[in-house]
Amino acid sequence: MRRERQNKGRVVWLLAIYALLLAAGLLSALDGRYVRFYLNGKTEMELPLGASYVEPGCRAVSAGKLFGEGRRELPVTVSGTVDGNTLGDYVIGYEARRGVHRYRVERSVHVVDRSEPTILLESREGYAPSWFEGYEEEGYRAWDEQDGDLTAQVRRSVFDDQVVYEVTDSAGNLCRVTRRLPLAMNRPTIRLTGGERIEYPRSLRFVDPGFTATDALGNDLSALVRVTGEVEPRLCGSYERVYRIENGRGDSVSVTRTVEVVNAALPEVAVPEEKTIYLTFDDGPGPYTGRLLDVLADYGVQASFFVTCSDPDYFDLVGRAAREGHTVCVHSACHDYGSIYADEEAFYRDFETCEDMIFAQTGAYTRLFRFPGGSSNTVSRFNRGIMSRLAESMSGMGYRYVDWNVSSGDAGSTTSREGVYRNIVNGCAGKTVCVVLQHDIKPFSVAAVRDVIAWGRENGYTFKPLDLTSPPMQHPIAN
Ligand code: ZN
Repeated sequence: MRRERQNKGRVVWLLAIYALLLAAGLLSALDGRYVRFYLNGKTEMELPLGASYVEPGCRAVSAGKLFGEGRRELPVTVSGTVDGNTLGDYVIGYEARRGVHRYRVERSVHVVDRSEPTILLESREGYAPSWFEGYEEEGYRAWDEQDGDLTAQVRRSVFDDQVVYEVTDSAGNLCRVTRRLPLAMNRPTIRLTGGERIEYPRSLRFVDPGFTATDALGNDLSALVRVTGEVEPRLCGSYERVYRIENGRGDSVSVTRTVEVVNAALPEVAVPEEKTIYLTFDDGPGPYTGRLLDVLADYGVQASFFVTCSDPDYFDLVGRAAREGHTVCVHSACHDYGSIYADEEAFYRDFETCEDMIFAQTGAYTRLFRFPGGSSNTVSRFNRGIMSRLAESMSGMGYRYVDWNVSSGDAGSTTSREGVYRNIVNGCAGKTVCVVLQHDIKPFSVAAVRDVIAWGRENGYTFKPLDLTSPPMQHPIAN
């Protein structure tokens, strides 16, 4: 009986201990105890190359769901190193034990290159970039502590006032350097000779008064200036000319000139009070012109020659006539009525040809001329009104046309020396001022000149060459 009771008590105790153990195990399982780490700083850290790694530290405590964190800190073992002078990714490990279990967390440390590469700009002694030619690179170098020489990788962007240089190292660090260009300062200046507004006397030709273009460096860029805008010098009006220089990079400098074409001035006619004969000879020079010049030289008489370009063999006599004091004037280059009176342009072209021949022989231009057939001609009637139009335009251009009031008849009514002499003497009779028409391509007309001079002197006449103030004896226009 007693033994039974003793056995019964032992079983109860065993059951109670067993139940307690069961409960403790259950509680422990529900608590789920583990190690909790507290990292100072981030789990991913960047360290600039060259800096030394300072461990931010880490704490560890035990923690569970039911009973929370333990108060006591657990010892933490740190493993791993960081070489701040070597690029790379490093791992630092933190370990703590709880019972037989080891717990671990890690921190990544990336040693990175954060230093930019360097660009050094070189400059050439004495070099100043020209606005027209643009900037000529003076040189540069680029390098990086990690990558070494990066000169070949430099990207250049050229703008009108600066060059931007950029280079990126292998770690993605960018360096940007700017070089200021004084190109805008060196823009050229175009100066117009005579100014930006000129009055231009109406003329057959327009000759630009000229211009210069220089940049701030003193370079002469005149030859690079392009001029646009036509002037019609034969018509009164206002014209614009643009003088422009472009540099090929979309920049240009330009100035504008206004040209006012106005009627040319002609001096007043002064009619001589004394008896005066103006001998005039048309259609030369020719085979008899030299003889005529000899005769005139003998008498010391100066006459006027309205010349053509029909015989180049005698052109030099035009120069001789001018040198001997005679007046050389335009008549016509070709003297072909059908072509010169076909239109104004044809007339001007023929006129200029003759003018140029005279200039070549004498070194001077004349403003006196005589229309082929005279201003009263009717041979031009195939082109209605051409003589009126030409008389107006040529006068507006500063030319004065001369007709005659005494005809020698050497182109029609007579073919003899005596006939020429008689016609001139009769024509001059009773006139104070005589403009005599002869042709030095007619030998009999040239032969009459001695007698004409002798008669004129006996009768109180002075022989004079024409000038711009001489009476032009203009006829009434008939077309
Ligand atoms: Zn003629």
